[in-house]
Amino acid sequence: MTSTMRAVQVSEINAPLRVVDLPQPSPGPGQVRIAVEACGVCRTDADMVQGLFGDEPFPLTPGHEIAGRIDMVGEDVEGWEIGERVAVGWFGGNDGRCEACREGDAINCEHLQVPGLAYPGGYAESVVVPTSALARIPGELSFVEAAPMGCAGVTVFNGLRRTSAQPGDLVAVLGVGGLGHLAVQFADKMGFDTAAIARGSDKEESARQLGARHYIDNAGQDVAQAPQALGGAKVVMATVGAPAAMSAAIDGLRARGELVAIGVSPKKIEVSPMQLISGEKTLRGHASGTSQEVEETLRFAAQSGVRCISEVAPLQDAPQAFDNMVTGTVRFRGVLTPTGATALLRARRFGWAVRQRGHVQPVLVLVRGRADPGRPHRSGPVRLRKDAHPRQPRGPVRRGDRPGRRCAGQLPAGIHPPRPDQRRRHPRPGAVARVAATMSETGHAAVSRAIVI
Ligand SMILES: [Zn+2]
Ligand SMILES: [Zn+2]
Repeated sequence: MTSTMRAVQVSEINAPLRVVDLPQPSPGPGQVRIAVEACGVCRTDADMVQGLFGDEPFPLTPGHEIAGRIDMVGEDVEGWEIGERVAVGWFGGNDGRCEACREGDAINCEHLQVPGLAYPGGYAESVVVPTSALARIPGELSFVEAAPMGCAGVTVFNGLRRTSAQPGDLVAVLGVGGLGHLAVQFADKMGFDTAAIARGSDKEESARQLGARHYIDNAGQDVAQAPQALGGAKVVMATVGAPAAMSAAIDGLRARGELVAIGVSPKKIEVSPMQLISGEKTLRGHASGTSQEVEETLRFAAQSGVRCISEVAPLQDAPQAFDNMVTGTVRFRGVLTPTGATALLRARRFGWAVRQRGHVQPVLVLVRGRADPGRPHRSGPVRLRKDAHPRQPRGPVRRGDRPGRRCAGQLPAGIHPPRPDQRRRHPRPGAVARVAATMSETGHAAVSRAIVI
């Protein structure tokens, strides 16, 4: 084990992100160290860097959507072993003694610890966290799939299951971005009649592929009238920090409907008492979830097939990945991995995922396409059947192997590299393509999805 690690550091408010070598941290009593395999890039990371949470955490290492393996345990740690696959999200620990904690409401702990604020976060090769922050990752999920569930995933999953909506009720998800594309999937899998509300018609196809039965274009349609035409929304889950859009959606609620705000903004939502009293509607906010709830979210995702669509980048490129998130270049979610570049490079070349840390792993990949509306595309969403990939446990991949040969040699039976003529025909941008299929380190077959840009 080396005594230093690569990590992102931000020296002061609004300073640029720098990738530096820092001393490898060691866990204290009640803590574990995690070798980070993936870390999501969340909008709130930018709020931290911009100083919305004060200047105390600086120098700051962002990252509160962490997935990895425990590689060291501190004193007095029971129930957690070296090698366990774990996730840590927004809930990074609680004091266990304040009034909220004693009431069993740990997410509202007065001294809630958030990775990145309370201690260095997951834009690093290693993090040290208290055991109260840990959630176990089911074997079906890769690290890249698990990481965003620690904040984005648990927020929408909890947000939905805490409403009064019952299966079959109309649930409208406002925004189809990082949070929204997960909310649409969870709502669909939880049995709600799911509507997606987003700006423009270009998002309709991907929203429907994610599970939305209805699509409401709030550039061309009235977001109050359209849900009312469907009987009224029992819940509007507002995933974008756009208060004006939330205000507009309130009249789309049916009697006793709820608008749940989870998209963060300091600006005001406008609503009159009349709007709320008529039909006894509710407007409320929803925060994240505890580590135990992250674990429930991960389990539900594993059972139901809900997956975050991620654009993978290497830790070394964290400043660029962060900028892409801030400027809105990332369609759904950016995720950092220690060796994202290798995976991404090969994924672009072959259209499926490759290795990470010397083992073949499923990786959500970014497929570059180009708009070519005049030409029919054959590749479309590529569907690979899960059972097409029998178990093929493999040893470490040797360094220095030529990427193409090695990758081609590892293809499961029946799966062939795209022919040159297929490679020239790109899926349409915005399409959700199931393109990545490979073996996890545990030998499980897994199919991942990618967004075409
Ligand atoms: Zn977050
Ligand atoms: Zn507390």
